[in-house]
Amino acid sequence: MAEPTICERIAIIGLGLIGSSLARLVRRDGLVGHIAGCARSDETRVRAEELGLVDSIDADPAACVRDADIVVLCTPIGAYSGLAATIAASLKPGAIVTDVGSVKQAVIRDVGPQMPNGTHFVPAHPVAGTERSGPESGFAELFNGHWCILTPPPETSQEAVDRVAELWHRAGMMIEIMDPAHHDLVLAVTSHLPHLIAYNIVGTAADLEEVTRSEVFKYAAGGFRDFTRIAASDPIMWRDVFLNNQGAVLEMLGRFTEDLTALQRAIRWGDGEALETLFRRTRELRRGIVDAGQA
Ligand code: NAP
Repeated sequence: MAEPTICERIAIIGLGLIGSSLARLVRRDGLVGHIAGCARSDETRVRAEELGLVDSIDADPAACVRDADIVVLCTPIGAYSGLAATIAASLKPGAIVTDVGSVKQAVIRDVGPQMPNGTHFVPAHPVAGTERSGPESGFAELFNGHWCILTPPPETSQEAVDRVAELWHRAGMMIEIMDPAHHDLVLAVTSHLPHLIAYNIVGTAADLEEVTRSEVFKYAAGGFRDFTRIAASDPIMWRDVFLNNQGAVLEMLGRFTEDLTALQRAIRWGDGEALETLFRRTRELRRGIVDAGQA
């Protein structure tokens, strides 16, 4: 027997990689009665209709959320505060507002206080993605087998938290409840710092003189290629991540810089043992990720 729908109407604001993947999944599995989409540009609205992502499409976020039981913010984080102000008065009593942002403390700060009494805000982060963006890039299986972290403030209604957890559970995700500050620290190491390093190393190569740069492209298979994939991620989304997770990223960057200096010293002094010890530990860590099914 088919599982019951999660709610009658969902509003998805922002139809890029994450928003369009969610729309595809909700449509494929019949999770809701009506999918209302909102996109800023004409181009994305037209494309969303052509792709059949949504049942209705609006340019105005306030119109999109009207009558919605669940509203999911799927734009870059920097737009959340303005969106919250725009939709607040149009939310129906009891509506649940959630998000997919890669940083949680800043989102709670920007969105939470703007939500009217009688509505619920459940911050969430489905930890799944690719380096691609836009409505074409989404796919329903994106979330399958990955973790979704929920960071509800203590006063949040348990029923609302359960409803958002069910949405992501039905997307194939495993659910973890976490303190928002801890989320931001963990993600600074596992996601934000790796992106920063990739942006930096590819930036260094881009600044090389013409002849050397063409050789970098030619021999990219030597490791550089994997960094270029990460460094091709959406510039606006990642700008907003670093601007909104400043503290945790700077803390991790400090530790990273210290460790890099230690490596620099090991190379200078020919300390092969130090290098080998680290490389063996990191290889073990990779095996752990593979064993956890997150490779
Ligand atoms: P994306 O593919 O670039 O899509 C962003 C969407 O937001 C587009 O539809 C865009 O509209 C819309 N948008 C951008 N600025 C807006 C504004 N000021 N007002 C209204 N709409 C606006 O981005 P994404 O990768 O889906 O990321 C969306 C969110 O998911 C971010 O908060 C990010 O932190 C989070 N996230 C991303 C990943 C990942 O790997 N990409 C993973 C987990 C969570 P137009 O198309 O009309 O420009």
